[in-house]
Amino acid sequence: MERRPVVIIGGGPAGAATALFLHARDPGLAREVLVLEKGRHPRPKVCAGGLIPHTLDCLRELGVPLAVPNVVVHHAAVDVPGRRVTYTDGELCVATSSTIRW
Ligand SMILES: Cc1cc2nc3c(=O)[nH]c(=O)nc-3n(C[C@H](O)[C@H](O)[C@H](O)COP(=O)(O)OP(=O)(O)OC[C@H]3O[C@@H](n4cnc5c(N)ncnc54)[C@H](O)[C@@H]3O)c2cc1C
Repeated sequence: MERRPVVIIGGGPAGAATALFLHARDPGLAREVLVLEKGRHPRPKVCAGGLIPHTLDCLRELGVPLAVPNVVVHHAAVDVPGRRVTYTDGELCVATSSTIRW
């Protein structure tokens, strides 16, 4: 049986980021980490296309460029039964091409 010191189950954002952070911290670990993914990527995935500031910090730390068209979102409003929730306080997120109507 194959043995690895680190096995990550799932290659979604959490699993992939964990593997990338481990590699960034110790490149020698790259051959030791096994990511097991039951699906096939890229996958069909419902997504709003928004990247919150923490996600952008993580991408910067990993040296992953944001290589798709994007805009910074400063205002947002969501209608819920009976009221509207608004956000107008600074940088909410970056909207990527899947959500932008050019
Ligand atoms: C409608 C919708 C819109 C969203 N929009 C946004 C957005 O705009 N911006 C944003 O940042 N987030 C958005 N999200 C949230 C985002 O999708 C999740 O936060 C993110 O996918 C979570 O990543 P994860 O790696 O934890 O889980 P997942 O993305 O679910 O990845 C888990 C992976 O593990 C695999 N897996 C599961 N079980 C096993 C197993 N037993 N063995 C091997 N592999 C396995 C799966 O196939 C999958 O690939 C949205 C979510 C939804 C539902």
